[in-house]
Amino acid sequence: LERTYAMIKPDAVGAGNAERIMQQIEVNGFTIVQQAKLQLTREMAEEFYAEHAGKPFFEGLVTFMSSGPVVALVLAKVNAIREWRTLAGPTNSNRAREEAPESVRALYGTDGQRNAVHGSDSPSSAQREIRFFFPNLVLD
Ligand code: ATP
Repeated sequence: LERTYAMIKPDAVGAGNAERIMQQIEVNGFTIVQQAKLQLTREMAEEFYAEHAGKPFFEGLVTFMSSGPVVALVLAKVNAIREWRTLAGPTNSNRAREEAPESVRALYGTDGQRNAVHGSDSPSSAQREIRFFFPNLVLD
């Protein structure tokens, strides 16, 4: 089984959709192996999204991601990284509604920034992101 990092973003938590999204995750064959609700500081959001520093959307992204609680999740499944990105859908929720109407971002996101969920994009980012939120978790 592969593990990935998933995060329910402040828009979806604030709208009361976190439980529904976790149900959709489990119905699609993922096991939720870790779960924590917390609010990111601006500094944590800047570090988490460091690869986007300097991009035009970076400041807005940091403000959004630290605006309310998130739910941090470690998911396990065969091909979890790719499978979770597929279930999440395209980055922009408006595009997701056209191209993947059953995806989490289509169902629960708003636009290109407020898109309900995050998913790691590679094994190295999954490892980094899991360690960032669950530093005591033993990754074998
Ligand atoms: P994530 O990393 O959150 O799973 P992703 O890999 O699909 O999403 P990235 O390109 O890594 O998307 O962007 C990270 C996040 O930054 C997006 O999920 C979105 O919230 C925000 N973002 C990306 N592009 C834009 C944009 N053009 N305008 C506003 N916000 C954006």
